[in-house]
Amino acid sequence: MKKDIYQTIIDQFDQWAGDYNRACTRGCSPCCTQNVTITALEGEKILSYVRDNGLETWLAGKLGQPYSLNRPRMTTNQFAHACLNGREADPGGNDSLSICPFLEENICRIYPARPFACRCFISTVRCSARQPARISEHYISASTAMMQLIEHLGQKEYWGNMTDVLLALCDISINAKIAEQLEDPSRIMQARLQTHSARPLPGFLFTEEDEKKIQPLLAAIFTTSIDGKTVEDILNGK
Ligand code: SF4
Ligand code: SF4
Repeated sequence: MKKDIYQTIIDQFDQWAGDYNRACTRGCSPCCTQNVTITALEGEKILSYVRDNGLETWLAGKLGQPYSLNRPRMTTNQFAHACLNGREADPGGNDSLSICPFLEENICRIYPARPFACRCFISTVRCSARQPARISEHYISASTAMMQLIEHLGQKEYWGNMTDVLLALCDISINAKIAEQLEDPSRIMQARLQTHSARPLPGFLFTEEDEKKIQPLLAAIFTTSIDGKTVEDILNGK
């Protein structure tokens, strides 16, 4: 059921953002850095893609590389909780420009299974070293709201930098073929210690003005029916 809700969030977001003006094209990749954060559910999706496509040796090599990650200090929902309670908070983790290990010849090797953080990252102008991504506030607010929902969906499970979460999930027997090929298996435990635990949704961070534009997206997600229940009821534990 979690996979169905995740897919609903992805599909509805894609529909909502469909005609958004963007400069993004295949092969454009300055945005593919090691800043990507994911949930365990998204990690499982990537690992399933890796297993289905016989990429275990390739992934073990990638996960075995040395990294200098600037890890986030808190999850998106922890940050939202602090903000909504009037506390100063620095989520950290956003200024690494190191290239994502899954980028090869400017193409994402796991593209069909890429996480939401990659799917939602767009720009209305072509990015470069001098030109950061440009996007409207309400698009950023909507993307953040989706990340909060995805984190809520995976609460109490791993949340963190993509490589850390993938390494942490190598501890599960289904991923033994990847774990066995890691040059240093102790990295699995090290990565587990670097992850956070996904938190429940404390509320959204958008302004009243943004809310008007984002509300149709949230309504489309919450009213979707899965196994006879709405997504809203499932997320509320009903
Ligand atoms: S966000 Fe920027 S770097 Fe990434 S694909 Fe779009 S234009 Fe290219
Ligand atoms: S997972 Fe793929 S889309 Fe995401 S940052 Fe890495 S190469 Fe880019």
